[in-house]
Amino acid sequence: MSLALPALQNDAPSIERAAASLGVDATTLGELVQLALQPVLWEAASQAAALTDIDTWERGYCLCCGAWPALAELIGTERRRVLRCVRCGSGWSWLVLLCPYCGTDDHRDLGSLELGADGSSGVETRGHRIDVCERCHGYVKAVQTFTSNSAVRLVAEDVATLYLDAAAAQAGYRRPGDADAATAGIPRLAREGRS
Ligand SMILES: [Zn+2]
Ligand SMILES: [Zn+2]
Repeated sequence: MSLALPALQNDAPSIERAAASLGVDATTLGELVQLALQPVLWEAASQAAALTDIDTWERGYCLCCGAWPALAELIGTERRRVLRCVRCGSGWSWLVLLCPYCGTDDHRDLGSLELGADGSSGVETRGHRIDVCERCHGYVKAVQTFTSNSAVRLVAEDVATLYLDAAAAQAGYRRPGDADAATAGIPRLAREGRS
């Protein structure tokens, strides 16, 4: 059976069935299939980028492969926020005050995670940050950069900032948050037909 589709769709039951029949660990098998697919997805993403302006995509999930962004880049001195899909390498501009998961733009629900035990020191070490949403309890880690990372470099950046994922998980945030499946990734303004 082909595992490409189940891996891309995060279809855990299918992966678990295949892993059981092969006698291997399901999580490892799922990750290996995703890794094997990555070069194909990189190629698909670069072809999609030639056909359409991905930067203006208005959903929180990836236009090319449907994955949630692994991180956001804060690019240049103006720190333009660009969501990046580590699976296929796609990137698209995104407002700072907009949750990519539940789509809220209510500034009272959006902020950055404080790491210090006394709550005084923000998590802005080495140009890294964790943006959080109190509505869906989702988080997006952010890395500062002068130019956008290549797809390969992005994978390394994701691994190098795993401590941010650990800090976010410890504080009770998830990626993605508990967004409603029917409206996941769709900004509130777009849902209300106002964008
Ligand atoms: Zn993608
Ligand atoms: Zn949210």
